[in-house]
Amino acid sequence: MQGSEAAVTRDRAAEGRSPIATQAARRRTFAVISHPDAGKSTLTEALALHARAIGEAGAVHGKAGRSATVSDWMAMERERGISISSTVLQFEYRDTVINLLDTPGHADFSEDTYRVLTAVDCAVMLLDAAKGLEPQTLKLFEVCRARRVPVVTFINKWDRPGIEPLALLDEIERRIGLQCTPLTWPVGPGGEFHGVIDRQAGEMVRFERSGGGSGAAIEEHLTPDEAAARFGGDWVRATEELELLGLTGADYDRDTFLGATTTPVMFGAAVANFGVRQLLDVLVDHAPAPAPRPDTEGRERALDTPFSGFVFKIQANMNRAHRDQIAFVRVCSGRFERGMVVNHAATGKPFATKYAHQVFGRERETVDEAFPGDVIGLVNAHALGIGDTLHAGPPPVSYPPLPSFAPEHFAVVRATDSSKFKRFRRGIEQLDAEGVVQVLRSNRRGDQAPVLAAVGPMQFEVATHRLDVEFGVPTAIEHLPYRLARRTDAEGEQMLRTAVGVEVLVRARDDTRLALFLDQWRLRSVTNDHPKLLVAPLLAGE
Ligand code: GDP
Repeated sequence: MQGSEAAVTRDRAAEGRSPIATQAARRRTFAVISHPDAGKSTLTEALALHARAIGEAGAVHGKAGRSATVSDWMAMERERGISISSTVLQFEYRDTVINLLDTPGHADFSEDTYRVLTAVDCAVMLLDAAKGLEPQTLKLFEVCRARRVPVVTFINKWDRPGIEPLALLDEIERRIGLQCTPLTWPVGPGGEFHGVIDRQAGEMVRFERSGGGSGAAIEEHLTPDEAAARFGGDWVRATEELELLGLTGADYDRDTFLGATTTPVMFGAAVANFGVRQLLDVLVDHAPAPAPRPDTEGRERALDTPFSGFVFKIQANMNRAHRDQIAFVRVCSGRFERGMVVNHAATGKPFATKYAHQVFGRERETVDEAFPGDVIGLVNAHALGIGDTLHAGPPPVSYPPLPSFAPEHFAVVRATDSSKFKRFRRGIEQLDAEGVVQVLRSNRRGDQAPVLAAVGPMQFEVATHRLDVEFGVPTAIEHLPYRLARRTDAEGEQMLRTAVGVEVLVRARDDTRLALFLDQWRLRSVTNDHPKLLVAPLLAGE
């Protein structure tokens, strides 16, 4: 569907909607899932710059003041370069508010990275064309799969030699079982990227770098005849590949995309802004807008009921001088207004939102109002824990707790001064409740030496730092060699009692028995020895 047609359709659909539902309908909240170095920062920057460039050129006409967020962002960009490490980046494109949530990688990969995916409506799976699916992408994808988050695939770095496009699609289908439905197809092999075939428009879009590098790519639209005349062999090859694809029924289908069984695929080069407009258009035209979220009883809370949201991330300040803590809330229904007093569902207590911010890296900007799909950062939110619900006005609502994710790092922690054991225990309970780390226990290890479990090792640093600074308990930490956790049961615990390189502990949060293994090999040999052993993967949504 062409952009203008889509806008007309949306306008028609908007008739009769409440103002809040209209605001929700013009929002797209997503995250990029990728392995470090695939180009997430480059793409994030390109998306925001493209949206800004179009806004500035006046190609989008909107109401006065509509572009305030973009210009605020520009001011910050001028001051200190682009903030690409933001928790959430918000900008407007084609009258749509885009909320791009960051999924920290590298050393700061943690349970929070997974939890971000509980707050999005869609994900962009970004692959390096030369590398295909990489481990971190796979881990993040598993969370999307478990939560049925629709995924758009963007194959990046096509300006460099890479894997054949058909082979890349084959890898995706084979390894993760998502059927690929390309929306664009590259003309020219990796390294000689002329442009893409827009399958829906039936034309070729030729890309050219614009001067300066930070502007939108220059695009030229060619009919198939013009493209064939210009790009001969490369064009023929691209169309032949598409014919092969056509045989397998790889046409875009919105229902299966939203049902998370197919993924629209696009090709580009973020560094040159190639394919960036196409990705933005796909997000606006095809990605889902925020939908009513089911509560703990499975009842959906309508978008235009009073404000509600849930905490998906807590950022504690590591600086002793600023002990504040920011709770990031995804708005699920209603209109949030700064200063409103809301209910904290877990305690039934009121919570004042005087300090509500949008947070960009270290910068904060006050947020005055927010709608479903938006993210607000509440400062000094010590009472709030991961997964907590906030809501204003009736009816009360409580969203389901966030799932626990499969930890891959394990360490024993002890108070170095045993007289501080009470405080130590309180601290550990608090960190567990906040979701900073998962706490595992066993009779053998006792209360004095719980095992902390984390998705990324930096969670241990945060935990020990906070035990020291907030609870006044210096600790010693001993890393354990386990790398894999599987869910088991009481019988499994019995069977594994004498197994070497395996340990069973109970997760304090939900009493799940976790069997920890040194590696895949150990897991396999144990399951061979005990064919009846329950060892289930720990996925999101369990
Ligand atoms: P991140 O770790 O996923 O955030 O990756 P970055 O955005 O930092 O990119 C990693 C490297 O890949 C940087 O050197 C980028 O310049 C480069 N890069 C990103 N996108 C492209 C692209 O489309 N083509 C090429 N050739 N390099 C790219």
